[in-house]
Amino acid sequence: MTDQRALVLFSGGQDSTTCLAWALDRFEMVETVGFDYGQRHAVELDCRPKIRAEIEARFENWSPGLGQDHLIDLQVLGQISDTSLTREIEIEMGETGLPTTFVPGRNLLFLTFAAAIAYRRGIKHIVGGMCETDFSGYPDCRDETIKAMQLALNLGMAKSFVLHTPLMWIDKGETWQLASDLGDDALVQIIIEDTHTCYLADRSNRLPWGYGCGECPACELRSNGYTIYLRRRAMVAASNKL
Ligand code: ZN
Repeated sequence: MTDQRALVLFSGGQDSTTCLAWALDRFEMVETVGFDYGQRHAVELDCRPKIRAEIEARFENWSPGLGQDHLIDLQVLGQISDTSLTREIEIEMGETGLPTTFVPGRNLLFLTFAAAIAYRRGIKHIVGGMCETDFSGYPDCRDETIKAMQLALNLGMAKSFVLHTPLMWIDKGETWQLASDLGDDALVQIIIEDTHTCYLADRSNRLPWGYGCGECPACELRSNGYTIYLRRRAMVAASNKL
């Protein structure tokens, strides 16, 4: 097992694209894995090859390190869960205090499958975009959950995987900033044009921060983050002029 290879959970959204850039910046070889679980916004899966191709074309320093892509059929997750991401259910707060977009076990399954692929491919590092700051209350995005999963995977597979979550403690404004720090405006442009976040799979409506309905919780987070990012950037530019 080499220390220089990583596998990124890559859905085609803003967060996982930023994680992909983060990994390409750190590791010699980076593979990607995506999951088709019957999500209503399956359009994000169509974004994945385009994002990879754009990164490959625009970042000479990263393209040699961009390795295989794996797309895993997890339709079974859609069959066993009853949520607004996999069924035509209203996106709202559920009785449990969790949004109806919560797919129970999703990240636990994703990490387990990712580790199984990493096991086969001899990859030590697994990178995911889980985030506790803006996490909408998803318990499987918590740092504690990820740490427990790392322990369980390492015990269960007799390996020493390292689970990385570079977005865990930053907000959406800082996620935009991280993309800018890693890949300047070229990466920010790829995120705006080619990544998908909207739960309702709207690709017809182009807003300043990308495509989406502009109203679902995912669009709201992305939009607010973009506004904060621009505001902070303007403040830094202004203070540099002083
Ligand atoms: Zn939306």
